[in-house]
Amino acid sequence: MQLIDTHAHVNFNAYKNDGEEVLRRCLETEMFVVNVGSQFSTSQRAVEYAHKFENGIFAAVGIHPVHLKKGKFTHVDPEELTEEEIPTTGEQFDQQKYLELARDEKVVAIGEIGLDYHHFEEGDDEEFLKNLQKETLIKFIKLANEVGKPVMLHCWDGYDDLLEILTIHKVNKTGIVHSFIGSYKTANKFIELGYKIGLNGIITYGESYDRLIREIALENIVIETDCPYLTPRPMEKGTRNEPLFVKNVAQKIADIKGISLEQVAETTSQNARLSFGI
Ligand SMILES: [Zn+2]
Repeated sequence: MQLIDTHAHVNFNAYKNDGEEVLRRCLETEMFVVNVGSQFSTSQRAVEYAHKFENGIFAAVGIHPVHLKKGKFTHVDPEELTEEEIPTTGEQFDQQKYLELARDEKVVAIGEIGLDYHHFEEGDDEEFLKNLQKETLIKFIKLANEVGKPVMLHCWDGYDDLLEILTIHKVNKTGIVHSFIGSYKTANKFIELGYKIGLNGIITYGESYDRLIREIALENIVIETDCPYLTPRPMEKGTRNEPLFVKNVAQKIADIKGISLEQVAETTSQNARLSFGI
């Protein structure tokens, strides 16, 4: 049984002492992992990690929308158990730098990129930041089309704007709306445009997403951890998340859809392989 964690951050500092070990454990179970960058430094590190292994570890490169603003943002997990202040450099899109990185054979998607209207803080010029996020997203979409790769989209509180952008600025290889937290109706709009819906530990925290899981076909779902964040249940709260725990996400989908874990693993892995061309 193969599982694919389509969105992990083993390239982040949470694994600076044992990242390779964490990934090796995944490969021992035939699992594949896509490590996702949130700015240039972590994008580069994702690519470096991928090259340490012959196969099975891949990378996505991009700028997470919250990193476009210099300062910090406060990451609060959905259960409000932990709060972390993450410093941001205010990095701006650099075509040449990202084009070079994006062409790497281990890079299977451009991201995470997208819109995040949730993490604005008092004193922020929201209109300015929204426009900056939109303009940057469009630049990355052009880059994705230039290198012929799909996108890995992050979106919080901005699905309508994201849908509009994806409708006007088509991504040839489409991609994944990661950590999806909208309704099944919104999910279907992305599916109609050719996107897959990325589900993670959030769906294990309660019943809020049971309907979504029931309403959308397994053929449109990929699974992820978004580790080190969003540790799925029944893992103990506060445990550092890691790609192997994606099995818990798959199990929840199996339970809700009334199918076997193997079926979820097989279909979501196939979806991921098709999306990433791996
Ligand atoms: Zn992420």
